[in-house]
Amino acid sequence: MIEFEAPKPIANQTFVLKTVAEEMMRSKSRYFDEHEHEIPYDYIEFMQTVKRATGAGSLVPREEKKKEDEDPNKPKHPPIGYQMLASIAEALAWGDVGMYLCTPGGLLGAAAVQAAGTPEQRQKFLTRFLGEKPVFDAMCMTEAGAGSDTSAIRATAVLDKATNEWIINGEKIFVTAGDKAMTAYEKFDKGFIVVWATLDPKAGRAGMRAFVIEAGTPGVRVEKLEHKLGIRCSDTATIVLQDARVPFDHILGSPTIETDTSKGFKGAMATFDATRPLVAAGGIGVARAALEFVIEKLAENGITIRYGLPRQKLTNIEREVIDMEIMLRSAWLMIIKAVWMADNKKSNALEASMSKVKAGDIGTKITQKAVELMGPLGYSREFLLEKWFRDAKITDIYEGTGQINRLVVARQILDYRSSELR
Ligand SMILES: Cc1cc2nc3c(=O)[nH]c(=O)nc-3n(C[C@H](O)[C@H](O)[C@H](O)COP(=O)(O)OP(=O)(O)OC[C@H]3O[C@@H](n4cnc5c(N)ncnc54)[C@H](O)[C@@H]3O)c2cc1C
Repeated sequence: MIEFEAPKPIANQTFVLKTVAEEMMRSKSRYFDEHEHEIPYDYIEFMQTVKRATGAGSLVPREEKKKEDEDPNKPKHPPIGYQMLASIAEALAWGDVGMYLCTPGGLLGAAAVQAAGTPEQRQKFLTRFLGEKPVFDAMCMTEAGAGSDTSAIRATAVLDKATNEWIINGEKIFVTAGDKAMTAYEKFDKGFIVVWATLDPKAGRAGMRAFVIEAGTPGVRVEKLEHKLGIRCSDTATIVLQDARVPFDHILGSPTIETDTSKGFKGAMATFDATRPLVAAGGIGVARAALEFVIEKLAENGITIRYGLPRQKLTNIEREVIDMEIMLRSAWLMIIKAVWMADNKKSNALEASMSKVKAGDIGTKITQKAVELMGPLGYSREFLLEKWFRDAKITDIYEGTGQINRLVVARQILDYRSSELR
């Protein structure tokens, strides 16, 4: 059976999320855009309270679901953890995507632990998100010479056999929430970063592993914060690692290099399969904000969209708005499919990348078209539309650019390895 209605727990939270988005995010959107690197403490603390009360708001789906599944007397509910996260991402990004990226409680680092860690590691690193104070985490993959081409990563991890610790060296750039995760802010608890490094630079992707590095580890420092076009509320850090020592069991996955496989890298890919649809959902939230703004402003000027009329009877502006709606809805359906697959433990690499490509594309197109249709209203700082136009582009850049995700899609469809199609 195909079911398009939102499951009850998701439908039930819609009103709360909309209220948070309107009251706590939209009202502060311009302020945090203009005061880059200021931390939205009120939003963060509020979301921490909500998250503790409901278990929502994290990139890690609730583990309690499993216990429910094990009880034979309880009625079985379909798993909806990732679908829930996608709808949270969409709704909060509609409020402000930069602030949404400041939501505490498990971001990309936590998703990597969830995807590539053992049950013990998940217990060790992820339970902190349910504590009283907000906690942040981050994922550090990108380097100056290694963005799309992750096999070029030069950060190294060497095992010190005497102490059984990994010694990590390297420099990571463009780390979302890296500052909040690693800098000792009074109001936050100790966070962590997940750093991708190579055990053997000659082994290519087969040698790549992720390591959890706790805030406060000697040899790790936040070097600088980027000044950005959009999502200015979200910190994007450069993190330098100089002989940073981490315990042996902080490696995610096996410490042994199997040269004929790229298992280590597959851990990273498993993270992206989980997070790309959620990043896409955030992009949809921004696009929906822009589209609704257009519809609202047109209505204020007496123009309503006459849905249902044959296309040739519509005005040009009606056709444009309907086309934007089609783009938005089709992109959302792709996300729903990708998260449904993740929830049902089906391999979703193809759908995850497809949903990300689509959301990146339509996000930039819709916000651009919205600015165009609104003319000066779209260009003026009096309204948030120009900001959404700037915010939208990031969906097409982080978590793999549009081009890279297209390559992933093509490889999946044509059954090519990355060495055969790049
Ligand atoms: C705001 C922000 C936040 C970020 N957050 C994080 C984070 O939390 N963690 C993290 O690790 N990284 C993060 N990134 C980094 C981001 O993932 C990279 O910028 C992205 O992967 C592209 O890498 P690059 O910048 O090195 O560009 P390049 O790889 O140099 O790419 C430049 C251009 O060439 C294209 N290109 C490259 N290779 C190919 C190819 N084979 N075929 C066709 N086109 C190609 C790309 O699509 C792009 O258009 C963030 C970036 C930004 C801007």
